[in-house]
Amino acid sequence: MAYRSLTELADQLERGETTAVELAQQYLARIEAHNPTLNAFVHCDAEHVLAQAEASDAYRAKHGARAMEGLPIAVKDIFCTSDGPTQCCSNILKGYHAPYDAHVITRLKEAGAVLVGKTNMDEFAMGSSNETSAFGSCRNPWHTDCIPGGSSGGSAAAVAAALTPAALGTDTGGSIRQPASLCGITGLKPTYGRVSRRGIIAFASSLDQAGAMTRTVRDAALLTGTISGHDPADATSAADAPDVDWLAACETRDMQGLRIGRPKEYFIDGMDPGVRAAVDAALEQCKALGAEIVDISLPHTQYAVAAYYVIAPSEASANLSRYDGVRFGHRCEHPEDLLDMYTRSRDEGFGAEVKRRILTGAFALSSGYYDAYYLKAQQVRTLIRQDFQQAFEQVDVIATPTSPVPAFRIGEKTDDPLTMYLSDVFTIAVNLAGLPGLSQPCGMVDGLPAGLQWIAPAWQEGRLLAAAAAYEAATPWHQQTPADFTAGEQA
Ligand code: GLN
Repeated sequence: MAYRSLTELADQLERGETTAVELAQQYLARIEAHNPTLNAFVHCDAEHVLAQAEASDAYRAKHGARAMEGLPIAVKDIFCTSDGPTQCCSNILKGYHAPYDAHVITRLKEAGAVLVGKTNMDEFAMGSSNETSAFGSCRNPWHTDCIPGGSSGGSAAAVAAALTPAALGTDTGGSIRQPASLCGITGLKPTYGRVSRRGIIAFASSLDQAGAMTRTVRDAALLTGTISGHDPADATSAADAPDVDWLAACETRDMQGLRIGRPKEYFIDGMDPGVRAAVDAALEQCKALGAEIVDISLPHTQYAVAAYYVIAPSEASANLSRYDGVRFGHRCEHPEDLLDMYTRSRDEGFGAEVKRRILTGAFALSSGYYDAYYLKAQQVRTLIRQDFQQAFEQVDVIATPTSPVPAFRIGEKTDDPLTMYLSDVFTIAVNLAGLPGLSQPCGMVDGLPAGLQWIAPAWQEGRLLAAAAAYEAATPWHQQTPADFTAGEQA
């Protein structure tokens, strides 16, 4: 029952076969049993979860069900929640309690969802493996010696291990899609501006976007539909975004007439042969479903990682200047003066990767280097956006691998930031262009999941969902679950 989708659970609730309280109890029991091994949750208050579930059952009895009535949802520790801590898995925010709910949290509460807790992540969402978390690595349920991906690793692991049926993540350069791929679940990064960023702790404001991490495509549609929509309090939330008929988009069962672009820059030497075989087979399957595969080129792809690692750290260095020991989180002891307080609080509170980004970003923005780095990166960003615009004159959607490799071992890449940065070669361009992207499971490589990424033009999440739903209906991969694990045992 734990491995059921949101859609199945909603039906069971509707038919009276279970209650929100029963569901909450079931997932709380799984969290208690398996979180010590997986470290997917960094905060879970069982009493508070049960209280929400009771309130949901009472609401249903009196008024009927809202869109997500009684459905348990976990959220990444980056979302401000007025109940419980919000720490972004950083020592600098240890013990921080947000004064208000993020817009998406308000949306979930208004829809009747039961929030089951905060999930582990890379510190300030900077990472691809969840290893920079101040709360320690999260583990991949398919193989507990491996990373779950990052930065939304806790959300991905929690869904894959059925500690929750669904979760929210955020994606700045791949942080929803890459861990979804590595944990064998579905992850949807919406178009930039589709979902409000209010109350989401900022990493790189022109790239950050929240989205769904789920067991099925339809669940991703349900959750995205719930959290998206205009928010006047976020200036980058789109006021006139074309709407999507979220659930109807998932009814598609074939790909008749669909033109799928296969960019040659995303099928490169050096990617894992097993991942490549899985994605090749997936495209064959799409052909069998009626799609036409069109070879395309996105010629500036090779510059995406470099441009991202100028733009994202630049924005981060500005966003993270607010953590100075004055208003938020950690303050050093016995500061000698104001400057000492700033420098020591920041030195003690931030981890190594966060400091690396702040230094890189401050350098790229500094006078004398701005034109050579930041400005140049922004120009590259425009070229990358144009690549996609041109491609979408030829094709309806683009299909690529999500990650060039399956999950790697904990510790394998921590000494080499550049190798770690390459984890996101296939996801970063999508953020730079502001496009929607979806990852879904498409095969197994030596017992570890591989992911297929779909990319669509801005505001065309409906196309992603339609293609992914048709593929899902024809293949078994989304139904695979890791063997249950107990401490010390392999999945
Ligand atoms: N792995 C990328 C980074 O470290 C992307 C992170 C993200 O999307 N939040 O910046």
